[in-house]
Amino acid sequence: MSQPTLLSDVGKVLIDFDFSIAARRLAQHCDHPAETVLTLFDDIKGPYEVGDIDDAEFVRQGMALTRFRGTPQEFEAIWCEIFAQNEPMHATLGALAGKLPMHLLSNTNELHKAYFLREFPIFQHFQNGVYSHTARCAKPGEEIFHKTAAQLDLDPARTFYIDDLAANIATAARLGFRTFHYSFAKHSQLQAELDEWLTTQGIG
Ligand SMILES: [Mg+2]
Repeated sequence: MSQPTLLSDVGKVLIDFDFSIAARRLAQHCDHPAETVLTLFDDIKGPYEVGDIDDAEFVRQGMALTRFRGTPQEFEAIWCEIFAQNEPMHATLGALAGKLPMHLLSNTNELHKAYFLREFPIFQHFQNGVYSHTARCAKPGEEIFHKTAAQLDLDPARTFYIDDLAANIATAARLGFRTFHYSFAKHSQLQAELDEWLTTQGIG
């Protein structure tokens, strides 16, 4: 039987990210300026996020496109060191630990996923996750939500879904999930709506 569950996006919900940090560091290792170096990734970022190319191929192509001066390990570190934990969310979820299942649903890639799961304690609150690069499809499409519900045994009507992107929220709402369109500035509103929802689900 499906039970009340919390399902959360990752970027700009559980952790903040700033690609300009990577851009500035990349610029120090190649001949492209920080302002434009990230555009070189436009054609490989999407395929990487849905698993059409793997880590080694992404790193190889990324280094070739930028003419990166450094090692693959240095390239990977620059690609990954763009995140910071959302502390208010860490506190909110810590208070819920053990009270209901919590899972992740993220458009991401293997390097970032391995990095954020390893680096940030907020992910200790989560039992499972569905990721675009292994699901081979991405939000805001419906397919990844269907796969997530099937794989994690979710009843959308009893699942509270948090995401910062309106298009993702629209798909989830259309499929019957209880949704919250998050931003860091709206954290206290999330806390209030989550508390109210938990009460309606019999979780105090
Ligand atoms: Mg996000």
